[in-house]
Amino acid sequence: MTRILRINLTRKESSWDVIPEAYSGMGGRGLSSAIISAEVPAMTDAMGPDNIIVLAPGILAATTFPNNGRLSVGGKSPLTGTIKEANAGGAAAQKIARLGIAAVIIQGVSTEPVTVVIKNDEVTFHSAASLWGKGNFAAVDLLKEEYPGTALITVGPAGEKGLKASAIIVTTNDYHLRAAARGGLGAVLGAKKVKAVVIDDTGGPGIVIAEPGKFKDASKKVTDLILKHPLIGGLRAFGTPLLVGLMNEMGGLATKNFSRGKFEGAEKIGGEAFAKVLGERKNAAAAHGCMRGCIVQCSQIYTDEQGEVITTGLEFETVGLAGSNCEVDDLDAIARFDRACDDLGLDTIDVACAIGVAMEAGRIPWGDGEKLAEVVKSIYTEDQLGLLVGNGCTATGKALGVTRIPTVKGQALSAYDPRILKGTGVTYATSTMGADHTCGNAIPSPANPGYDASSPKGQNEISAFLQSYFAAIDSLGMCLFASLPLLDAPDLQQHLVDVVSAKLGIELPPGYVMEMGRSVCCQEREFNKLAGFGPKDDRLPDFFSKERLIPGGSLFDVADEDLDKVYAD
Ligand code: SF4
Repeated sequence: MTRILRINLTRKESSWDVIPEAYSGMGGRGLSSAIISAEVPAMTDAMGPDNIIVLAPGILAATTFPNNGRLSVGGKSPLTGTIKEANAGGAAAQKIARLGIAAVIIQGVSTEPVTVVIKNDEVTFHSAASLWGKGNFAAVDLLKEEYPGTALITVGPAGEKGLKASAIIVTTNDYHLRAAARGGLGAVLGAKKVKAVVIDDTGGPGIVIAEPGKFKDASKKVTDLILKHPLIGGLRAFGTPLLVGLMNEMGGLATKNFSRGKFEGAEKIGGEAFAKVLGERKNAAAAHGCMRGCIVQCSQIYTDEQGEVITTGLEFETVGLAGSNCEVDDLDAIARFDRACDDLGLDTIDVACAIGVAMEAGRIPWGDGEKLAEVVKSIYTEDQLGLLVGNGCTATGKALGVTRIPTVKGQALSAYDPRILKGTGVTYATSTMGADHTCGNAIPSPANPGYDASSPKGQNEISAFLQSYFAAIDSLGMCLFASLPLLDAPDLQQHLVDVVSAKLGIELPPGYVMEMGRSVCCQEREFNKLAGFGPKDDRLPDFFSKERLIPGGSLFDVADEDLDKVYAD
């Protein structure tokens, strides 16, 4: 990937530049965050014309290395005010990489709705007036007919309306929807009046591997390790909802707006119930890959009783937050909520947390599964509560006078209660992205029996380690799930270094992965500092340290000094 594509929406122009030396060897989150740091004034209005959207495939995108092809989407977040990288599977990153593009930078503002088509050396701009206002499913159906064989990146009505929990949608090779969900970047693209970006890699230069033999050998070693790991079979059979049972057992499954850690209906929404539904229904599939080359296949095709697809890629976070955290024990209702969020283009985590807060405020009855999708769909008619939850959990809590708002830097927590997973709590508090479990989720693993997730001591160290590791994984473009086996086998991380070294044709030090990840986090933190964030913002909401979790009575009791140590040097 040797070039940067810059698209100016104001002038309807594009330019192709050779990748500057400063960005050489970078990709994904690392490259996106470097570009944003260089080009976006930290104090700028995230919804204003000076913000940009970066689309960056990872360093290893579209190679034969397994599970590679997540698209990093970057910008300043309108939800948090921090730098933001949200990533998604799908086909776009691999196609962008095959066009030889390291990053697409979208800047300026179009005066009218536009579809941007990127095809080899050409960028064209087309009116999207007829697509504006359409949900993502309808828009994708029309676009895939018009541009067959392409990857589509779209914004739904939530992004068009500037709602701060808006996602950017990316299609898979079979045109299912995936979301770069977190931080409201859909609203940024919507403010630029971009409805869709179409990626056509026909005639692109393809991928260059500097040392193919070395690449193949190292890649095979990592592939074997992934396939042998016990977690992989579980993910394939039960998807990430397998975590419902584990978290409920530990007493850390977010329940009733984070007031409890166990849910009576957990079995009805857990991995086994999920697999049973998928096993019984017509046209359903328990294992599905969201991008080419996925050897894990944690996604699934979830159908209704008639065999119609409701959604694909229903994740633990959605099941936990729309399920136990809202006291909903109906998987179909949760799946319909997931579909509504995909259609409107919304982050299920922030919106489900917002609904939990609205339930606490008495605006929606606890356990009312039908209301989940109904509230989201009411955004189409600009219903007040719909617009509120579409702006995320913080906005909803403040507007409804709720004091227990489970967010950090304006972004909602996932369904892991930080009073039980304290390392994850440290990540929620200190990550450069606001609360984001994918930045460093410290789940106990049989491979690390000495780790005590409930101890207040030493969690800063594990969180700092994981934040660096996953920043590197995001920069490689690798799916997080495929990277977990390497965490359990640190000695084998050298194979990952060898893969990157062979791809780029340069020698890399043994500490490359962790050093690269740390430098990405530190650069992001510097942006946030310039945007006005400091240690006082690296804290969980008060109630996690004052309100004892039921059952068990745990508090989040990691010392503030330990939180400050995560980025102390
Ligand atoms: S493991 Fe899951 S999230 Fe990762 S690439 Fe495969 S289907 Fe997508």
